[in-house]
Amino acid sequence: MIITEQKKIFPWGHRRRFNAYSGYIKNHFGGRVQKVSIDAGFTCPNRDGTKGMGGCTYCNNAAFNPSYCTPAKTITKQIEEGINFHKHRYRKASSYLAYFQAYSNTYASTGKLRELYEEALRYPGIAGIIIGTRPDCIDDEKLDYLEELSHRCYVSVEYGIESCYNRTLQRINRGHTFEECEIAVRATAARGIIAGAHFIFGLPGETREEMLAESGIISDLPLKTVKFHQLQIIKGTPLEEEFSNNPMDFSLFTWEEYRDFIIRFLERLNPSIMVERFTGEAPPRFLTGVGWGKKRTDQIMNLIEERLTELDTWQGKYYNS
Ligand code: SF4
Repeated sequence: MIITEQKKIFPWGHRRRFNAYSGYIKNHFGGRVQKVSIDAGFTCPNRDGTKGMGGCTYCNNAAFNPSYCTPAKTITKQIEEGINFHKHRYRKASSYLAYFQAYSNTYASTGKLRELYEEALRYPGIAGIIIGTRPDCIDDEKLDYLEELSHRCYVSVEYGIESCYNRTLQRINRGHTFEECEIAVRATAARGIIAGAHFIFGLPGETREEMLAESGIISDLPLKTVKFHQLQIIKGTPLEEEFSNNPMDFSLFTWEEYRDFIIRFLERLNPSIMVERFTGEAPPRFLTGVGWGKKRTDQIMNLIEERLTELDTWQGKYYNS
């Protein structure tokens, strides 16, 4: 571990005790960058019958989509409204990333994807795109196009992996295996495209030790970025029904348990992987089950960092390559 005792500069080049994606983005673009979410009208193969009909058991996209996002508006209009929305609430960003967020954003022909992504990239101030998708919605032709695009602008593909265990993926009705995730992430990274992934902790049937062991599995993937979420039970989803019928099968984290778990997880995570977030934040009106009061994402981030300092620990402290 490259730490000078005086300055505590970590291998990722700054004093924060984890490899923060926000720091990388600021350096990469030379200033503050804001994501602008887009709902381009995609669906997903787990909803339209190709893989399944009901979707993943925890999924309700409405719980995560900002109000300005609707496919009834053009991409240009959504970006315009998104930029205005952020300008009124936050410090002014120097540039923006178009975040294709809702559903599976590579689930269309390459020609259609080109049309949608390039409409976003034509908007003044858009410096790149982030594409949220499923690992079974990517292929060589799409990756060829994204590789070419990545030579022109920032391109990141974020895969919903959620769990490294096939029995969990089956139980939550993901409709793909972990092996498909590995193939997609490796194929993306092999082309020099930024590969990201999303994981959920607290899924039914998984023990805390099994969740912790995922740190080693994730560390072996060529991922540049990760997002972690605690399981939140969203009203109206199949998971809500499963939870009310069988609550003992769930191990939902209290805030203190999650904070301690995430720290143990971080200590074992490959320090070269950037962490974008530790928690999810669905609006309270969508939530059922255990909540964490009124803690916001940025407060949670601060509390986790304070705890890392108190314990004098950091991402990768116990990572074994
Ligand atoms: S979580 Fe993603 S993959 Fe699953 S049903 Fe919802 S949109 Fe589809």
